[in-house]
Amino acid sequence: MSTFKALVVTKPDTGYACDFAEFDERDLMEGDVTVRITHSTVNYKDGLAITGKSPVVRRFPMIPGVDFAGEVIESSHKDWKPGDHVVLNGWGVGETHLGGYAERARVSGDWLVAIPSGLTHGQAMAIGTAGYTAMLCQMALEGHGLKPSRGPVLVTGAAGGVGSVAVALLAKAGHHVVASTGRPEEADYLKSLGAAEVIDRAEFTGPVKPLGKERFAAVVDTVGSTTLANAIAQVKYGGSVAACGLAGGMDLPSSVAPFILRGVSLLGIDSVMASTERRIEAWALLDKLLDRGKLASTVTKVGLAGAIGAAPALLDGKLRGRIVVDVNAAD
Ligand code: NDP
Repeated sequence: MSTFKALVVTKPDTGYACDFAEFDERDLMEGDVTVRITHSTVNYKDGLAITGKSPVVRRFPMIPGVDFAGEVIESSHKDWKPGDHVVLNGWGVGETHLGGYAERARVSGDWLVAIPSGLTHGQAMAIGTAGYTAMLCQMALEGHGLKPSRGPVLVTGAAGGVGSVAVALLAKAGHHVVASTGRPEEADYLKSLGAAEVIDRAEFTGPVKPLGKERFAAVVDTVGSTTLANAIAQVKYGGSVAACGLAGGMDLPSSVAPFILRGVSLLGIDSVMASTERRIEAWALLDKLLDRGKLASTVTKVGLAGAIGAAPALLDGKLRGRIVVDVNAAD
């Protein structure tokens, strides 16, 4: 194959564009493994890359798509051979290195993780970067001593991609999950994933008090800003907060009171540059813990054109769960 189908972001004089292109294989970037991609996903950052709403794309032309699943077709890397099934999350793919919305990718073999044998390519991308990040959040909280007996765990942005998988994973681990959402119509969906309670996200949008009532043993926060600040103020003594997102804003109008008076810990979660060891652990746990039926219930399937259509709605917080992109689908 000398050319392949891809979505390509360009920056013409007229502004910013994302469209189909026949991409020349010779224009792929440096790497020691070539992958035949079957699936990608639409994560929040992909929404930003497709629409140009924030400058996440650092090179033009760019194939967006921060993650993909596929099969190795060429490799000079010691760990990979043709026929291996691999997943990639982050490392700047879809931002500085050509990404997953294409039939081919050439990447560093150091960035790849073997798809656990219990997961198909489609399931690996139903999890995608959002689900893998939810797992990193749970690993961080449990590493910090979280146990079901400590009390409820709050998940903010619960009906989104990270939130949906976090609800399912935490519930499976026996936690009493409180799902915070701005979409009361998704209450049944969130309960089907395992939420014990569904609450209105407006509870976390008011003025931030230094300390509030101690309600939660831990928090998975995908929203940031006032939501995160209000959540931190309601964490029980010795509890912890995994902060992974900024869907509501990048600021944090908090105070040190929860940290110095209640020993609350704020744990930062980054999926993009996480170590390979941590990734392998996260993917093994996802394979072991995630209920496949619940995972399937979070998914909407689209083709490459559908990814373009999904991006603005995702950024507006209107999409539920996970968007899986089948790069070979007709649309
Ligand atoms: P989604 O868009 O799927 O979900 C975000 C959810 O946040 C929405 O569904 C909505 O949930 C809620 N939300 C949206 N806007 C607002 C708002 N203004 N105020 C309050 N709540 C809001 O995105 P993802 O789940 O894929 O990603 C969530 C966040 O995590 C993003 O900021 C993303 O960049 C970040 N992220 C970070 C990673 C990392 O490595 N740290 C990796 C992956 C994602 P509801 O309707 O239920 O309230």
